[in-house]
Amino acid sequence: MSETIELATAIMVRALRAEIAAGRVDAAQDALWGLVRELGGLARLCAECGGVFNPSRRDKVYCSAQCRNRTNVRAMRRRKAAAKGVQA
Ligand SMILES: [Zn+2]
Repeated sequence: MSETIELATAIMVRALRAEIAAGRVDAAQDALWGLVRELGGLARLCAECGGVFNPSRRDKVYCSAQCRNRTNVRAMRRRKAAAKGVQA
């Protein structure tokens, strides 16, 4: 199963590079999201790093504890800065 995902990802990355090189970043993004939907729960894009990962649970949003933590730390720093009236 993960070999299928790796192969699909490799094909997709090649297609995406061509789209991006041609200046069609939106098309590349749409194509990538289409693939993720196609894989239906087998692969998901990390909300932090944008990497493709295989979610162990339906509610997984981040690929790793590091990505989840990085997001939480940023949010915390933003809240602290906002409390001080400083632009984050
Ligand atoms: Zn990540």
